[in-house]
Amino acid sequence: MSQPSPQHPPAAAALTEPSGMLERLRGAVHQLAQAERLQRALFAIADLSGAHLSMRAMLEQLHAIVGTLMYARNLFLSLYDHDADTLEFIYFVDEAAVDLPPLGVRIPMADLHQSLTWHLVRGGATLRGSMSELARQLDGRLKALGAYAPDWLGVPLRDGAQVRGVLVVQSYDQGGRYGPEEQELLEFVASHVLTAVQRRQIRQDLERAVSAGTAELASANQALQAEVARRQRGERLQAALYRIAERANDPGPVQDFYRAVHHSVGELINARNFYIALLSEDGSELDFPYYVDENHVGTKSRPLGNGMTEYVLRNGQPLLATGDEIEALHQQGAISKSGPSSRSWVGVPLVCEGRALGVVAVQSYQADVTYTERDRDLLGFVSHQIASSLVRRRTTESLRLANAELEQRVATRTAELQEQIEVRRRVEAQLKHETLHDALTGLPNRSYLLERLDWLQSRLHRQPDQRFAVMFIDVDRFKLINDSMGHSAGDAVLHQIGRRLASVLRAPDMVARVGGDEFAVLVADAPAADPVVRIARRMLEVLDEPIDVGGKRLFASASIGISLCDRDKPNATDLLRNADTAMYRAKVNGRRRYELYDAHLHTDALQMLEIESALWLAVKERQFEPYFQPIVSLADGSVCGYEALVRWHHPTEGLLSPGEFLPVAEESGSIDAIDWQIYEAAAARMAQLVQTTGFAGYLSVNVAPRHFRQPGFGDRMLRLLSDAGLPPQRLCLEITEGALIEDPERTSVVLHELRAHGMALALDDFGTGYSSLGYLHRLPLRTLKIDRSFVQPLDTPPAAAGGETAAPNPTAAVVRAVLALAGSLGLNVVAEGIETPAQRQVLLDLGCTQGQGYLFGRPNPIGAPDVIVTEL
Ligand code: C2E
Ligand code: MG
Ligand code: MG
Repeated sequence: MSQPSPQHPPAAAALTEPSGMLERLRGAVHQLAQAERLQRALFAIADLSGAHLSMRAMLEQLHAIVGTLMYARNLFLSLYDHDADTLEFIYFVDEAAVDLPPLGVRIPMADLHQSLTWHLVRGGATLRGSMSELARQLDGRLKALGAYAPDWLGVPLRDGAQVRGVLVVQSYDQGGRYGPEEQELLEFVASHVLTAVQRRQIRQDLERAVSAGTAELASANQALQAEVARRQRGERLQAALYRIAERANDPGPVQDFYRAVHHSVGELINARNFYIALLSEDGSELDFPYYVDENHVGTKSRPLGNGMTEYVLRNGQPLLATGDEIEALHQQGAISKSGPSSRSWVGVPLVCEGRALGVVAVQSYQADVTYTERDRDLLGFVSHQIASSLVRRRTTESLRLANAELEQRVATRTAELQEQIEVRRRVEAQLKHETLHDALTGLPNRSYLLERLDWLQSRLHRQPDQRFAVMFIDVDRFKLINDSMGHSAGDAVLHQIGRRLASVLRAPDMVARVGGDEFAVLVADAPAADPVVRIARRMLEVLDEPIDVGGKRLFASASIGISLCDRDKPNATDLLRNADTAMYRAKVNGRRRYELYDAHLHTDALQMLEIESALWLAVKERQFEPYFQPIVSLADGSVCGYEALVRWHHPTEGLLSPGEFLPVAEESGSIDAIDWQIYEAAAARMAQLVQTTGFAGYLSVNVAPRHFRQPGFGDRMLRLLSDAGLPPQRLCLEITEGALIEDPERTSVVLHELRAHGMALALDDFGTGYSSLGYLHRLPLRTLKIDRSFVQPLDTPPAAAGGETAAPNPTAAVVRAVLALAGSLGLNVVAEGIETPAQRQVLLDLGCTQGQGYLFGRPNPIGAPDVIVTEL
């Protein structure tokens, strides 16, 4: 197609032809305007292809542009596919709208055979004119399509030699609208339209390809997402099932397991209504250990009936049922319904070892929740886990019960054994205690003491500074108490004494009872004698307190020997023996005192032993002899009586006084025999004296307290006197306070007897003992003998304190008081141990009438020849 030149040719023509200049100018102006319009149209067309418009919009605009150039109310555009030989109408605006070909459809060229369009494509040249003209031009080879157009202009869209399509405008109402100018314009436009359409088409194809690719991708993506979702669901399912499986082995409470199962199931399917039902042991009931339901409050159990649960149990198969299916089962009578109906129900039996133990079920009351086979299978898995967990739990429970029972039995047996062991232990402890303790006082016994002593001594070997001491304690005159008051009283006294001794001690010191009336004390820490002596003194003090036994009040005392440990003699028995020796010395030295052991004592003790045995021999060989000391009237010295005092003609030691052997004799018991020998001899001598000299006085004998404990003393004495030929009235019995104290009742009885027989009774050594005067008036005493310790100081008045008058003698006051007391009781008083005339004078001045002492005569084998006989 030749490009029209809008500037030069029309203007040049106007200048060369002056006659038709105006016309030509007009034509030139018209042409210029036409050229401008064309120019604008071409720009617009070029813009169109770049604009982001849809094909349709672009074609509409193209149509509008063509409309600016010519009459274009009817316009169509079609594209030719050379390869397929098809034509596609891509734009069609037609007023007549008759037989319009379809848009966007590739129409085989054959279908359009010999139509104008066909000719345009095949001919490749513009066709212009009315349809009838065109039919002529085409030699009648025209097949009319659509309405008749009196004016028709079609141009091929060419790409080089190739026809790519056609652009056609036509008019139905008048002809002659399209002349060569319109043809030139349309041909010119057509070349640009093709470019624009092709570009547009390429872009559209591209967009289509892109969107097709995108769609493909999207669908691939969708598939992928579905796969991902499926896998995620699978994973979730697996995780939930794994959790359930895991919890199935959990030893925690079964309720926790059920709750966990419910939770996990709820993560996978709708489990708003979930329950676990179990057959009771006897199969008669359904228990619901777990029950969650939006319409029901969970029941604990109910008798086996005809529900869904029972149906599943009976069949042993899972059941997945819709509301209608449930209804059908109900109609068939397979189940009976109660409560709100489920819209969807899944129940699976809990099977273990071929037996259905129960059912796990979910159900929905909502139409939009429907369980599937997948849900049923899932519940199937869950049911396995529940069943196996149940079995495991039941096994564990029965094991636990068996174990608990076993443990209980073991515990009971253990308790029994422990009790037996405890009993044995107690018995052993008791036995041990008994073997190491004294039954009476509860104090440690000798074995215990020796054990402790051994231990202390072995400690001494290791630690020479750790010195200790042993005390041996003997109750004074205990035998007297025992014999006179009976054993039970004696026991009570010992018990008291033990307690008192223990009260003085502090651990680890200890007191043990080592013999009848013997105790021993261990002082664990005794670096010197002082602390031990303090303890001994304290013990003497606590024993001074009277002891009340069986309503009677007794006074007890003890003699204590102390032995300090000596590294050179680390022998327990030696130590004890030494303490014993010292104790013996304490006895000899007057009782109620302590003595410390020293080496001499040992020898003394040996001597004691010798004395003891010698005493028995002496009794046998009658080595004792009474010496007589006169008791005189102080006024004139006349003899009222004689006191018989024992003397021992010791084969080697010579003549021994009572002080040297009497304590031993008393302890050993030989005093009895000695006394009777003396009484016998004295009575015989006195009878002889009476016979030979006509002595009218009395014989006084000393009676050891123990005599009163022996029944028949009075009778024996009477017999003795009668044998000797001495009337009882001539005998005076001297007793000491000790005897009265030890057993006042009994002594009193005996004394009354003796008195009844006519014998006189004198209380000897008055003032040295307990000086408890309460008993004096109750006893049938004749005489009080004031001890010489009161008499001797009488002649030595204390120095005058700066004054000329001597202070009154305190002893004299005591003697005066005694005399007054005696006077009031009608008692005779004898003062003992008068050695000086001054003493005699003071006594006389105080009103004392009788006395005894070296001043008047020492004890002699026989009554002094110069006796002055006075009346008793
Ligand atoms: P007693 O019954 O109080 O006897 C008096 C003691 O004083 C006697 O001591 C006597 O020798 C002593 N004596 C008398 N006058 C004086 C004096 O002026 N100065 C001093 N320093 N002493 C004087 P003896 O004989 O050694 O007897 C001591 C004690 O032995 C007696 O004290 C008596 O309790 C007891 N006794 C003596 N002979 C017997 C006896 O045959 N049987 C019993 N059971 N005891 C006896
Ligand atoms: Mg006497
Ligand atoms: Mg006396």
